[in-house]
Amino acid sequence: MNQKKKNKSSGMKLAVLLTTLAVLIIAAIVILTNQQRIQSVETTQVDVSGQPIFGEEEAPVTVVEFGDFKCPSCKAWGEMIYPQLVEDYIDSEDVKFSYINVLFHGEESVLASIAAESVYQQSPDAYWDFHKALFDEQPTQNHDALWVTPKKILEVASVFPSIDQGKLEGDIEQQATMDQVEIDEALVEEAEVAQTPTIVVNGTQLEDPFDYDAIKALIDKELAGEN
Ligand code: CA
Repeated sequence: MNQKKKNKSSGMKLAVLLTTLAVLIIAAIVILTNQQRIQSVETTQVDVSGQPIFGEEEAPVTVVEFGDFKCPSCKAWGEMIYPQLVEDYIDSEDVKFSYINVLFHGEESVLASIAAESVYQQSPDAYWDFHKALFDEQPTQNHDALWVTPKKILEVASVFPSIDQGKLEGDIEQQATMDQVEIDEALVEEAEVAQTPTIVVNGTQLEDPFDYDAIKALIDKELAGEN
């Protein structure tokens, strides 16, 4: 009788323990799911047709940076996060990368964007090197000081033989690529970009563009769903 009671009581204990465990597991799942939601926001896929692409055109995952040549965080992102992305995913042709101009810093942002679009139109192969070279010119201190000028842009472009200096100068003067800059502006509005850089992985916008683990997780999830 006593033995029976004991068995019953330990059975009850086990049931309580299992229930508690189940509740804890469910709570953990809910918390983790919510965290996932905080890290990223679903938006729509960014239309990168006609935009500069780095990497394999047919890559299954598209990572888009909404950036601004005047933005210090964009320069930092390009130096800290982008090289890891290239090494881990772009070189292996899993990811292609595109860059959309954002004009949050006024006239200098517009000027840099017009120039970058001109370079892309006349010499797509030189675009990414020019893009990096222009970011390299961003001052490390006093970012708000004027530094994007036609003279600076032509100086940066002058090391690339495939860029026609006269054409670039004319494009800057006449704002010849403004239509392309306006296409980018429309994309910025559509994706509700509120900060630069904003990183979008196959239509999902990262809350923290510097959280490389979150970028990796999103890319891996997209690649896993690809088969
Ligand atoms: Ca563009």
